[in-house]
Amino acid sequence: MRKILIVGGGQAGLQLALGLLRHDYDVTLMTARTAEEVRNGRAVSIQAQFADALTFEREYGLAQWDEEAPKLRRCRYSFGGYPDLGVPGFDWVGRIHSPAQSLDERLKMPVWQEMFEEQGGKVVVHPVTSSDLDVLAGMYDLTVVAAGHSGLAEMFAPNTERTLPDVPANITPLAYVRGSDDPEPELAEIHLDPEFGFLVTIPTLSVTGPCQLIYLIGQEGGKLSTWPSRIRPQEHLDLMLDVLKEHLPEQHARFAGAELADPRSVAVDYSTPLVRHPVAHLPSGGKVMGLGDTVLVSQPAMCQDANNASKSAEIALRNILAQDGRPFDEDFMHRTFDEFWDYAHYLAGTVAATLLAPPPYLLELYIAGNAHQAIADRFINGFNDPADFDKWVTSEEKGRAFLQEVTGSPSITG
Ligand SMILES: Cc1cc2nc3c(=O)[nH]c(=O)nc-3n(C[C@H](O)[C@H](O)[C@H](O)COP(=O)(O)OP(=O)(O)OC[C@H]3O[C@@H](n4cnc5c(N)ncnc54)[C@H](O)[C@@H]3O)c2cc1C
Repeated sequence: MRKILIVGGGQAGLQLALGLLRHDYDVTLMTARTAEEVRNGRAVSIQAQFADALTFEREYGLAQWDEEAPKLRRCRYSFGGYPDLGVPGFDWVGRIHSPAQSLDERLKMPVWQEMFEEQGGKVVVHPVTSSDLDVLAGMYDLTVVAAGHSGLAEMFAPNTERTLPDVPANITPLAYVRGSDDPEPELAEIHLDPEFGFLVTIPTLSVTGPCQLIYLIGQEGGKLSTWPSRIRPQEHLDLMLDVLKEHLPEQHARFAGAELADPRSVAVDYSTPLVRHPVAHLPSGGKVMGLGDTVLVSQPAMCQDANNASKSAEIALRNILAQDGRPFDEDFMHRTFDEFWDYAHYLAGTVAATLLAPPPYLLELYIAGNAHQAIADRFINGFNDPADFDKWVTSEEKGRAFLQEVTGSPSITG
């Protein structure tokens, strides 16, 4: 039986570990925290998963929360425009074809970790170092590092050719809250503010039940850069509300009466969009393969990385199975990453760059979305099918052709 070591008990590592167990591999998971520590700890991050990622989890019996978790059927996107410059804004709601879902990782990952152990997987709770890996890798047929975007990730060299140039780091304070004045139970919202960045609100399922996940995304050097590093959870929420009061008063009114969903339901994440090479070489001559955030971090505003973590684990599983008795060599690792990159490159590359700095034709499409449901729907469903964005946002010709198709004119001004 082939022996596989996976480092990291997040979406990528646990999904691959559970998938491999199902196919009778001998799998060891090394991770920094026990299931109980994750469950009872501070909030970790954010997951908003779209239909394709959920399909895999359903097929493998991993989707344990389908009944309880809010179904995300609609997503609002709004921007107030620049009234002083005469630039109109937009505010529309796209319909998600097949519902998305958001779960607090403190709910999902401990259950997966326990399932993995119950099904015969070996869990070693230990913060792994690169020196550990140098010794360990030789004992396994394949070693996978899915340890998130910091620490061990640095073993994998940045791939500057695939990383978007000049993309600043992001600061993303988040909180799971309850008691807000919510317009609809199945509606996620994205609000763009030109001064601080984005507010995203998502009906979610956390450790204490259904609630709202809210997060702000700002860029290094911007309004959120001075976010204090050591504050109490309630102060963290109060600060988030202060930002809303100043920039998005309507949303402030909605969340003014909200309380933390549990005493530890806040976090702040610092991340720089980055693509890394998928293979790290160890001093002993061994090689390890990176997965999930370890090899790709995209813009949080693209809502992709848990989906990417899931997709990368799905592709790795398929390729491991297809490898049969052949070695998991460097060629295998590169092939696996390249297949994942075929899927992920849109929202980690040109599509993301265009969406985040929309040229005039795209702004016209957004504004036309106020009156044309087809634009709103296509935009929102692109997050499940990133390749579709390439067909209408990445060049003026494609964008205006879509505008013409929907509105009867290639321009909203002409
Ligand atoms: C603000 C924000 C918004 C986001 N929004 C979205 C969104 O809308 N949609 C979406 O899909 N994704 C989103 N994401 C991203 C998503 O949360 C992550 O990309 C995803 O969780 C990554 O999964 P992973 O398994 O690669 O890594 P992680 O979830 O980071 O898991 C890493 C695991 O490795 C363990 N570990 C770390 N170091 C070591 C070590 N040295 N030894 C042993 N174990 C170790 C950790 O304890 C953890 O268990 C968002 C993230 C942020 C911060």
